Amino acid sequence: MKYVSTREGRGGVTASQAIVRGIAPDGGLYVPAEIPRIDAAFIESLCGMGYRERAVKILGLYLEEFTEEELAEIAQASYGANFDDPAVAPLRVLDDDTAILELWHGPTSAFKDMALQIMPRLLTASLRKNGESRTASILVATSGDTGKAALEGFRDVPGTRIMVFYPRDGVSQIQKLQMATQEGGNVNVVAVNGNFDDCQTGVKNIFADAGFAKTLDERGYFLSSANSINWGRLVPQIVYYFSAYCDWVNLGRAAVGDPIDFCVPTGNFGNILAGWFAKRMGLPVRRFLCASNDNNVLTDFFNTGVYDRNRPFYLTGSPSMDILVSSNLERLLYCVTGDAAFVADCMKKLSAEGRYEVPADVMAAIRADFDGGFAPDAASREEIGRRFREGYLMDTHTAVASRVLRDQRAAAGGSAPCVIVSTASPFKFGAAVLEAIGSPTDETGPALMDALTAATGVNAPAPLAALAGKPVRFERWVEIPDMENAVSAFLA
Ligand SMILES: *Cc1c(COP(=O)(O)O)cnc(C)c1O
Repeated sequence: MKYVSTREGRGGVTASQAIVRGIAPDGGLYVPAEIPRIDAAFIESLCGMGYRERAVKILGLYLEEFTEEELAEIAQASYGANFDDPAVAPLRVLDDDTAILELWHGPTSAFKDMALQIMPRLLTASLRKNGESRTASILVATSGDTGKAALEGFRDVPGTRIMVFYPRDGVSQIQKLQMATQEGGNVNVVAVNGNFDDCQTGVKNIFADAGFAKTLDERGYFLSSANSINWGRLVPQIVYYFSAYCDWVNLGRAAVGDPIDFCVPTGNFGNILAGWFAKRMGLPVRRFLCASNDNNVLTDFFNTGVYDRNRPFYLTGSPSMDILVSSNLERLLYCVTGDAAFVADCMKKLSAEGRYEVPADVMAAIRADFDGGFAPDAASREEIGRRFREGYLMDTHTAVASRVLRDQRAAAGGSAPCVIVSTASPFKFGAAVLEAIGSPTDETGPALMDALTAATGVNAPAPLAALAGKPVRFERWVEIPDMENAVSAFLA
């Protein structure tokens, strides 16, 4: 199977090359030239398997250069004791028509682990397949969740080093503590005296410095990224849509072939797009509900066909969804139209004018699969309280989806079976969750987690609970212009 760039369409590279490169030379994103199809018998066979086996079967359809044995080994290492639930991505039933897919049982308690626990292994195997012998040096700029998940994913992976930059005053206390206490012999974490954009621009400049790349090459290193537009991060996410469907069937809620909906709290459009690939492959999904917070650029896009990032940027209680450019939408545009020139033109307009418009026939095709909705902070806070009183504790991101689903069902006057995708443990956003359930507190750091346990009777995930007793390893911060020197010292 070949992977083509969304801005070129022709030619193509193998899966391992797409994973090694991350982004296509023309700036486009890699997508499979053809999406593999499965049938009901395939789904039935998955229903009899556990998460790891399901992963092997689905990944095998996309990663042809990997043997089943190789994938089984990778899946075993990626989705094992590092997850605190044997189901890996358990499905919890809320009522007759609603279930929650919990994607935060990995080591960093956010859904990024679903991809970042396996992606480093796919990347190192891909490097070997392409004859690369230098050490892959991963640079990450993070606003919180991705940095920690990438550190955990790459920690002590042979042939790699990883360095994470985060804004000194721009992440939550728990997130800072998670990164500052990171273990592993190949990791480094540095705060930057600037905001997230400064971190990201700094990292981009380091990538663009050809002289620096040459220096690193002489030392046996090359720079690589673990960012969410890499196909190696998207493809593992397809698995849990199949897994949730099979679990729903196994619960006796549906027969194979019956359609269900998914409601997904969305930022960069990576999670929900993986679901759409599952549908294209043949998973019986009726529709995806794309849930946004006040940064509702996607809601407007689904309603109007205009993508316009020229709008205020809001800092919300669901920070991982505070995004105005949803990069993975580019993949959807290409897969729906098959027209690389059109996609290239849209992306040119997006970067020049901050906006582009999609023709009515294309929007009709997109709307057949997607619906958009958004929930402001006050509404999602209310939703956390309501679900808690009904017996389920959810985080601020999941609450956005839950609320959008509630509003949409009220408007539609009925309820089709729907899986709400849950992307973070409530303990990662304890202050907001405590406020929402009517037990606000002034506690900070690890004490916040104790307060949440006291108020709810729910225990924090073990890796978060363990933070309090961990030694701080990384306290350093640098000025923006010194980021490259920090990388150079790390890769000496
Ligand atoms: C990253 C993230 C999201 C958004 O996922 P996308 O794939 O960017 O749409 C939602 N919730 C949480 C907790 C996240 O970390």
